[in-house]
Amino acid sequence: MTTPLNEQLNYRDNQLHLESCSLSSVAEQVATPFYCYSKARILQNTARCQAAFSAHDIGIHYAMKANSNLHILHLISSQGLGVDTVSAGEIQRAIAAGIAAEKIIFSGVGKSAAEIRLALDTGIGQFNVESAEELALLSTLAQTSTRPVRVALRVNPDVTVNTHRHITTGTRGNKFGMPPEQALQLFRDYADHACLNLCGLAMHIGSQICEAAPYRQAVSRLLALTKTLKAEGVHIRCLDLGGGFGIDYGNGSSLSFSEVAQVIADTIHTEAPDYDGKVVVEPGRSLVADAGVLVTRVNFVKEAEPRPFLILDAAMNDLMRPALYQAVHPLLTVSYADNRVQRQFDVVGPVCESTDTFARDYPVSEDIQAGDLMAFLCAGAYCSVMSNSYNSREIPAEVLVDENTVQVIRRRISQEELMAFED
Ligand SMILES: *Cc1c(COP(=O)(O)O)cnc(C)c1O
Repeated sequence: MTTPLNEQLNYRDNQLHLESCSLSSVAEQVATPFYCYSKARILQNTARCQAAFSAHDIGIHYAMKANSNLHILHLISSQGLGVDTVSAGEIQRAIAAGIAAEKIIFSGVGKSAAEIRLALDTGIGQFNVESAEELALLSTLAQTSTRPVRVALRVNPDVTVNTHRHITTGTRGNKFGMPPEQALQLFRDYADHACLNLCGLAMHIGSQICEAAPYRQAVSRLLALTKTLKAEGVHIRCLDLGGGFGIDYGNGSSLSFSEVAQVIADTIHTEAPDYDGKVVVEPGRSLVADAGVLVTRVNFVKEAEPRPFLILDAAMNDLMRPALYQAVHPLLTVSYADNRVQRQFDVVGPVCESTDTFARDYPVSEDIQAGDLMAFLCAGAYCSVMSNSYNSREIPAEVLVDENTVQVIRRRISQEELMAFED
């Protein structure tokens, strides 16, 4: 395994630094475990994404479920990006972070009536509708709306992607989206609807996808539907192609923004050269994952057969991806000495579940000991947002680093605060 360090995450004087902050000095100010993000890295990722997609006139909506901290949202949206949301809570957060309502897309397979009402009242830019049933509910609720509601139908393009089965979304049998034939019929049924403006097609084929071919195939299917609709007099004004661009978790594979942008542009250029509507993408992970680490302390080195356990103070409730998708996050010692001999460990947390296992048979320097700091890399996406308090554990703080300044952007949620809800 290679360790995906980057311009903002590196060893200096044998100490792991995020920008100019040594993580051990941050750990003196903030209790472990904690999430720590690099502002510069988020801005770099955003800039690379914009450069790649805007070259082809493709808009970007950050899929904020990857990391919905208000400060992170503000940072990303201040660069001009819109957002993709999947709940009323995310819409409220987006508004609280200062994002204009018309830049908000509302996705999700199970929107409640209350959530739809909140989105209508907020005046969001686009609803991505995933079923005939949802469209019927939306049309009822939109009757009181003062202006037509923009709707894209999410199509399931039925493509196979090479990622973990728990994060594929665009294959038949997934709960997401609808078959192209059904979308076609709904466009016919709602063609002259008074309150709904059906004008878009959406897709999102999965997450952590490291090859461009499935995008080519799926976009091609959306374009075929766009052409069929055009022949019937329905003009698609927006193609929302979703996110899912893979990042390097240490196995060397990823999908660059420029590669996927090129594939999308080529496919449109060759298959629908006269398409003149908008095109947008919704990256989440690829904007924030590699900007974050989860800093944790070793509680015990427990000698055992067949391998010793490294027991950390972080657990599955702080970093759930290994338990959910057998994901492996590279784990480094915060203090580093050259030429240390490695020893194989099973790396676990303190929670009373066997799935509270971060890695098996994982190499760590043999002189690691209780009290040492370690950092899980690529913890900026789908980590803090999935955290919970199982085993009555406190929810870790989130910290944003900007050169040599450290800002706590969410303080640790204490046991007293958690208990206060049970008065
Ligand atoms: C989760 C999600 C995304 C973002 O996926 P990433 O893998 O984080 O890029 C985009 N669009 C929709 C509809 C999603 O549910």
